[in-house]
Amino acid sequence: MVTVEDALAVVLRESLPLPAEEVALADALQRVLAEDVHADADLPPFDRAAMDGYALRAEDVALAPARLSVVGGVRAGEWPAMTVGPHQAVRIMTGAPVPGGANAVQPVETTRTLADGLVEIAGAVAPGANVAPRGCEVRRGDVVLPRGRRLDPAALAVLASVGCVRPRVGRRPRVAVLVTGDEVVDAASTPAPAQIRNSNGPAVAAQLRLAGAEVATLGLAPDRREALAAALARGFDADVLVVSGGVSAGDYDLVEPVLLEAGASFFFTRVAIKPGAPLVFGRRGATLVFGLPGNPVSAQVTSELFVRPCLLRLQGALPPLRPRATVELLAPVGNRSGRTSHAPALVRAREGRLLARPLRSLGSGDLVAHARANALVVMEAGRSHAAAGETAPALLLDSFLEDDGEPP
Ligand code: AMP
Ligand code: MG
Repeated sequence: MVTVEDALAVVLRESLPLPAEEVALADALQRVLAEDVHADADLPPFDRAAMDGYALRAEDVALAPARLSVVGGVRAGEWPAMTVGPHQAVRIMTGAPVPGGANAVQPVETTRTLADGLVEIAGAVAPGANVAPRGCEVRRGDVVLPRGRRLDPAALAVLASVGCVRPRVGRRPRVAVLVTGDEVVDAASTPAPAQIRNSNGPAVAAQLRLAGAEVATLGLAPDRREALAAALARGFDADVLVVSGGVSAGDYDLVEPVLLEAGASFFFTRVAIKPGAPLVFGRRGATLVFGLPGNPVSAQVTSELFVRPCLLRLQGALPPLRPRATVELLAPVGNRSGRTSHAPALVRAREGRLLARPLRSLGSGDLVAHARANALVVMEAGRSHAAAGETAPALLLDSFLEDDGEPP
């Protein structure tokens, strides 16, 4: 059995970034930048008014109230033809270039229009106030987004603002998903006695999509050598083949031997993790192969911990790991497995603390308990017990960000 850390290191070592491609900005969400993006110009590109009001010389209103003569107006999108001289002001709108000579903008609320083209400025203003000078945010040539950044909406705004409308991103990994098990039937059918619906297929495919993969589902394969071999072979042109079930020690767990016969080699076949000790990672030709345990929680947790980083790394993401937070336990957590365990919990941020309510779970089959969790409390192999009030590291899952406001 390898440790979780060693297993992850092997996964990352074997997951080399795929070639880059160009995509349209509109298709770039969640893609990973393959190169640094530089500013093509200063931002802002001119001295920009940050308020509606009057552009003026701060020294002219130091002894406010002061009267200035209005020598023109400038709106956003217009280049100012005039300059601002002593005791002059220009009416200006937010986003407009500040005319030469002016060094501050006094917001309209502190001004009063008088007759004869005069304006009264009611208060003093500091030099530079309400002006964003050219290049104060970014200088032309600066790196505005680094290689390896996964593109979120804020990053798309940056790309747009520097004119990078066809960013170079890592190719999406093509991932084939095969679900195995004689007892497993499609979720649309009514299971006969002794059958169960396929829940791993939809869950794992969805996890992989969230990690940026293009997923092809290969359907369901029975626990029989020839049929399994034929189904697995359909995944050998994918970048990654993910198999659910059939990797534990049962008489009909045939995924490992059938993969070996097909020419695969394995880096590891068991990991000291709970849930999910049987976890196969190998390679067949250019295809990386994961064999996930069939137990629904084990399949989801191992997919989260190992397949997701693999897929992000293939796209070039740096670093491809989810953050860990230190949480305060509201109830005890045990771990007598001798492996690194992951206990489902609901974590809520309250008054600057992260409070974790461990959830009752009947184990690696309890997919309903798992779906209530928004985090996994990590108990290292040597830590058999954590009391209420102690802290522990936790992996925050996507659902952590959807807080329902309930008390923890
Ligand atoms: P296995 O890893 O094949 O030994 O399966 C372990 C447990 O997970 C068994 O109880 C299976 O019935 C269950 N299981 C396997 N595949 C799936 C699946 N696709 N969806 C839901 N449960 C599954
Ligand atoms: Mg099975």
